Amino acid sequence: MTTFVLATANPDKATEIQAVLADVGAPVTLRPRDPSLPEVEETGLTLEDNARLKAIDVCGQTGLPAIADDTGLEVDALDGAPGVRSARFAGEHATYADNVNLLLERLHDVPEDRRTARFSTVAIARWPDGREVAALGTVEGVIATAPRGDNGFGYDPVFMPIEGDGRTFAEMDPAEKHACSHRGRAFRTLAEGLRADSESI
Ligand code: IMP
Repeated sequence: MTTFVLATANPDKATEIQAVLADVGAPVTLRPRDPSLPEVEETGLTLEDNARLKAIDVCGQTGLPAIADDTGLEVDALDGAPGVRSARFAGEHATYADNVNLLLERLHDVPEDRRTARFSTVAIARWPDGREVAALGTVEGVIATAPRGDNGFGYDPVFMPIEGDGRTFAEMDPAEKHACSHRGRAFRTLAEGLRADSESI
């Protein structure tokens, strides 16, 4: 078992990461991030860059191994936006609702067959010496025309995974979401990588 500091300061993401890693019996113990640690600026051009920036920052500040992730929603009709800017789509201090409302506004005249999108998560486990294990998880979906459901967070009320039954992520219970979500996939793959890594040492 290795103890990792969870780099995310977002409690919604932390809850999901803990649930997914516990569900697969990952060989890790997670320590929450110290809330007084300053957050690194997400200046990377890709999800992988940003996940790595966060992992390096927490390793540097704590001297401990860290697990970090970065997620983006890529909407085809918006040429891949909001992408790496998903958290700040409607502005620096945008709320989840601000971002969802802007997304629906930008897509208001886009028909259902052109509302395709995908969530991607890059998850990175990194040690202070620079060793790391990385994983990608993606889920394809369609952006709904209005928010539906109260579960989850972020863009969940408007994201319908194509392998589902038409419900948005926010209409699913957490286990159903994790079974096919970007984060579920990324962290299950990360757990496999960590298991292989620990067996090779
Ligand atoms: P982050 O950069 O990884 O913190 O995520 C960027 C933004 O994407 C978040 O602020 C949320 O708005 C959104 N997001 C991340 N993960 C999810 C998810 O699982 N469902 C819906 N929205 C998400």
